[in-house]
Amino acid sequence: MSGPYKDPIDRTGLRPRFWEHVPLKKMSQKEWEALCDGCGKCCLNKLEDEETGEVALTRVACRLLDGHSCLCSQYPIRHQFVPECISLSAKNLESHLYWMPETCAYRLLHEGRPLFHWHPLISGDPQSVHDAGVSAQDITVPEFEIDEEDWEDYIIEEPT
Ligand code: SF4
Ligand code: SF4
Repeated sequence: MSGPYKDPIDRTGLRPRFWEHVPLKKMSQKEWEALCDGCGKCCLNKLEDEETGEVALTRVACRLLDGHSCLCSQYPIRHQFVPECISLSAKNLESHLYWMPETCAYRLLHEGRPLFHWHPLISGDPQSVHDAGVSAQDITVPEFEIDEEDWEDYIIEEPT
């Protein structure tokens, strides 16, 4: 991507550095949405070992993920197409931690850790997550192209 990149998430009018002093459960909906860094890694399919519970990340992406922008192509109406897509909230966050990306802002704050310097809220630039090499940009293949039984050939380490 070159040239000015418009932030797809509205990060205007938020309380200054709210993520440092407002608990997750007390954030407004707008603040909650602004926490997402746009990395797209939560939209990659995971493989869970039934016996060990271990979760492996693959680069096989949800059918709605745009592999370059790392955005959901149908975010507001995504459940019509992907009913199993999770709506993360302060209430259900804990039950999802076991599979969430290491760098996910929701996970970091839940663990009492700071956001990374490349987070758009810190850098002021939605492109910085991609420039830092921590997003899913250009590494994915769409799930409709790969048989589910072959997903294990696409296991990756999380880019961090
Ligand atoms: S992993 Fe977290 S920060 Fe990254 S896109 Fe998903 S919700 Fe947003
Ligand atoms: S429906 Fe959209 S938000 Fe949900 S996993 Fe797929 S691409 Fe991501």
